[in-house]
Amino acid sequence: MFELVDLHTHSHHSDGVLAPAELVARAALRKLTRLALTDHDTTAGLDEARAACQQHDIAFVNGTELTTSWRGQEVHIVGLDIDPASAALQAQCATVLALRRTRIAAIGALLQRLPALAGEDLSIALLAEPGIPTRLHVARELVRRGLAGGTQDAFDRFLARKRPGYVGQEWPTIESALTAITAAGGVAVLAHAHRYKFSAGVLGELCRQFKQAGGSGIEVSLPGTSPADTARLVRLARQHALAGSMGSDFHEPGLPWRPLGRFAKLPDEVASILDRLRPL
Ligand code: AMP
Ligand code: MN
Ligand code: MN
Ligand code: MN
Repeated sequence: MFELVDLHTHSHHSDGVLAPAELVARAALRKLTRLALTDHDTTAGLDEARAACQQHDIAFVNGTELTTSWRGQEVHIVGLDIDPASAALQAQCATVLALRRTRIAAIGALLQRLPALAGEDLSIALLAEPGIPTRLHVARELVRRGLAGGTQDAFDRFLARKRPGYVGQEWPTIESALTAITAAGGVAVLAHAHRYKFSAGVLGELCRQFKQAGGSGIEVSLPGTSPADTARLVRLARQHALAGSMGSDFHEPGLPWRPLGRFAKLPDEVASILDRLRPL
């Protein structure tokens, strides 16, 4: 069967902008046959997305993208085919949510010192919203107020390391995220490994530890990768016996460099994560 699959997407339950049903409608327009919703550290959108997928005859995969820290950097782990009712998974999500809320409040406190904000704390309104608060929400708010030209500009000027609104964060360990995903019956995929700023040797060590802790896959097909990135990801997949996953990391229609469902197909020399998922 011909499949058009996207296993890494976001909705407004984390830092995407579309409601889950809107995301699914877009997936249907793009003729996707299988879709995972993988919001950061939450499963809140899965019921709505699953129902919408049923209407559009798209196979739905329960997902989430868990935030971890490893060797001082943030590393993301996508869980697929997870059971959202898992207490261990929900506990992991709750831990990260609490850290995120404290961090966003700290960022708001720093930014309120900017003359342009004149003592106003942006985080108060953001933390009153439902869902997972992220720095991307802060970035959008800075754009909306004309303090930055776009979200990337907002990160570069205010939110990135060494900028006035930067707050570092130590997240849970990779092992804890893998334990939660495994307890929820899911398979774990190392997300966008080409974006981490590790040396080749350290990236290899990350994959080794990820596999040893129960990881199953690594993202290989994704938008915006250079041929050199893809070669690197293929090599890591093969060296560490990780299956290749495929996903756009779609957040919003306004960011055309992460288009829903549009990326190169998985190279033949890599095993597909689809074979590790529940059969259709
Ligand atoms: P947080 O998880 O709170 O650090 O928020 C980070 C989110 O913002 C990520 O999930 C990305 O969607 C987005 N993001 C991170 N870094 C950047 C950046 N430099 N420019 C634009 N968006 C970014
Ligand atoms: Mn995001
Ligand atoms: Mn990510
Ligand atoms: Mn993502």
